[in-house]
Amino acid sequence: QQILDHYRNPRNYGELDEPTYTHVGENTSCGDEITVDVKLADDGETVEDVAFRGEGCAISQAAASLLTSEVRGMTVEELHDLDRDDVLELLGVEVTPMRIKCAVLAEKVLQDGARIYEGELDVDTTSTE
Ligand code: ZN
Repeated sequence: QQILDHYRNPRNYGELDEPTYTHVGENTSCGDEITVDVKLADDGETVEDVAFRGEGCAISQAAASLLTSEVRGMTVEELHDLDRDDVLELLGVEVTPMRIKCAVLAEKVLQDGARIYEGELDVDTTSTE
């Protein structure tokens, strides 16, 4: 129910005017795609604002909506500490192994975007394949 609500009425949907970083990811096995904008505060560490846009299945989009609702005020370090269990807990449902890739897409995009911003990773697109 929560998933359908977030799928139909996604929170934080759209884009930011001046994101610190933008990153895109896809899960081609399901056709999910998510782009995330993150704006860091002046300290360069705290997530001040976040927005996403994308298309795909209900789980992938609901996970992005739920996750982006949680990360404001987190530090980049705390972003990196998120794992699939945090995402599954937010979703609040059993997710089949196939669907795990859908569920964690937004998390991976957020984290990879931060790593690229920090100069620790160099990829154009994150994939949960
Ligand atoms: Zn999916």
